[in-house]
Amino acid sequence: MNLVVIGGGVGCARFVMGLREHVRRTGGRDRIDVVVNTADDWWVSGLRIAPDHDSLLYALAGVNDLTRGWGRADESERVSGELAAWGTAPAWFTLGDLDLGTHIARTAWLREGLSVSEVYRRLGARWDLGVTLHPATDAEVDTHVLLGDREPIHFQEWWVRHRAQLPATGFTQQGIEQATPSPGALDVIAAADVILVAPSNPVVSVGPVLAVPGMRQALAAASAPVVGVSGIISGSVVRGMADACLAAIGVDTSAEAVARHYGARVAGGLLDGWLVDESDAAAAAPLNAAGISTRAVPLWMRDAGTSARLAADALELADTLA
Ligand code: GDP
Ligand code: CA
Repeated sequence: MNLVVIGGGVGCARFVMGLREHVRRTGGRDRIDVVVNTADDWWVSGLRIAPDHDSLLYALAGVNDLTRGWGRADESERVSGELAAWGTAPAWFTLGDLDLGTHIARTAWLREGLSVSEVYRRLGARWDLGVTLHPATDAEVDTHVLLGDREPIHFQEWWVRHRAQLPATGFTQQGIEQATPSPGALDVIAAADVILVAPSNPVVSVGPVLAVPGMRQALAAASAPVVGVSGIISGSVVRGMADACLAAIGVDTSAEAVARHYGARVAGGLLDGWLVDESDAAAAAPLNAAGISTRAVPLWMRDAGTSARLAADALELADTLA
């Protein structure tokens, strides 16, 4: 089977690790492709940084820092201090030395004229990931945060420097009008047997993937069922600050509200199916009535076993919708 996941970042990485584990436990014949958000990428010190991609890459390669929850394990920060002293990198944005190696390699390849897709291929080829990563788009798209009367700021400044505490009134993806889905993303979506929407941040991780012109049409035209997994459990985010992003666009922090925000595929939206946590089982009846087949299962990904079980639940629901 061809399994395609849409998302980006740490929540997506945990889900994809679970899916890979499930595939390994069941004979290892399924193929896994991930369509990755590129809209929180940005330029620092002349380097292209790609947080969502790198979170997936490092986690799948097993070189991520499990204690901090992001970046490389056994990391040092000697270069970052120098960049801050030169004033080319903001002091609030930590860049580890090993991580900088990735950014330098990526930027070197981009400057040679390679596409983002080709850069993904080269970065992914270093390890046996068991998963293929594709950028949502090869175009350069940067997310900015609208702050009412104040000047908009880059998403990373809002997220990292201000910890999402400045009240936001919306998000814009600069450059998205000119973007098209990457060829790899279109190919895997068209050939998919199942499309899974990871429990990623719905606004700034999944939203910008769907906002690439042509992406929603490609998903609507896919023969595969589309099943999403809620990143919201009992009205709270599991980790991160997705609640601040949802508030900015006027969506409640609840599994039901996020499903309604994505919309039922039968009504022109994204989802055929949706997994909510057992504690949110009351959302199932109204969502089923709205055309989204909803099941309540344990959504906490605590370890390889619980993550693999969640992936199996998502595939079982997809099977009933195929
Ligand atoms: P980021 O870009 O690194 O912030 O990562 P993502 O956008 O992929 O994921 C953030 C989302 O993952 C948050 O909304 C979390 O609630 C969700 N998340 C993290 N861990 C879990 C988990 O164990 N279960 C579920 N269902 N969601 C999770
Ligand atoms: Ca993200």
